[in-house]
Amino acid sequence: MLKFIGTGSCFNYKMGNNSAYYIHNVNGKKRFILFDCGEDVFHKILNNNLLNEIDEVFVVITHLHSDHVGSLPSFVFYLHFVLNIKPVIYFPCDDINIFFKLVGIKKELYLHTKDSKGYYDITPFKHNHGYELNSFGYVLNLDGNLIYYSGDTKTIDEKVLDIFRGKDTKYVNTPIKYFYQDVTKYVNDAHMNIHNLAKIFSKEERKRVTLMHFDDEEVIKIAEEYGFNIAEKK
Ligand SMILES: [Zn+2]
Ligand SMILES: [Zn+2]
Repeated sequence: MLKFIGTGSCFNYKMGNNSAYYIHNVNGKKRFILFDCGEDVFHKILNNNLLNEIDEVFVVITHLHSDHVGSLPSFVFYLHFVLNIKPVIYFPCDDINIFFKLVGIKKELYLHTKDSKGYYDITPFKHNHGYELNSFGYVLNLDGNLIYYSGDTKTIDEKVLDIFRGKDTKYVNTPIKYFYQDVTKYVNDAHMNIHNLAKIFSKEERKRVTLMHFDDEEVIKIAEEYGFNIAEKK
């Protein structure tokens, strides 16, 4: 469902910073939704002409590591000065405003929402990303499809797994259809190890899980052997 601008981890310059997007019509306006905006993402958005005829921009930020927000200030400047679009930035805490203040993005250039009210039904899940920074994954509804976008995390909240498996009463008829998960071949405190991930999902379930944020080709090979889907740049 989501299209990917990049599928790599922070040092993976070949696959680029992990970032996804979706374009749809909302009340007659063409809206571009972006998931994270790492160091090389803004230039790729322009190179791929992704903003053609776009009326509105909504940016979902998972956390403030530079491979997830590194080119966000330039993107916001471009939207303001070139396209005259005021983007809505969704991040469930105020850290994003401190970041924008430090890099010279004035408040009038963007609209920050902590609850996404009036735009989307998004539920944040606070993550264990191994750093003292606020990091989230999100369950959100896009055109009637429930999506989970993990951001960077070592763990998956049990509640998210319940929603995925149709065990959560709120979502019993609409379980998560598209599950996007960060993965690594390393064992560390920051990301989900590929072998641990395979223990969480059955073979059948892995067909509904798309992996992203890759270290390199090697982790993709392991993921394919387990039967997971691989996020691909479009
Ligand atoms: Zn990252
Ligand atoms: Zn990170």
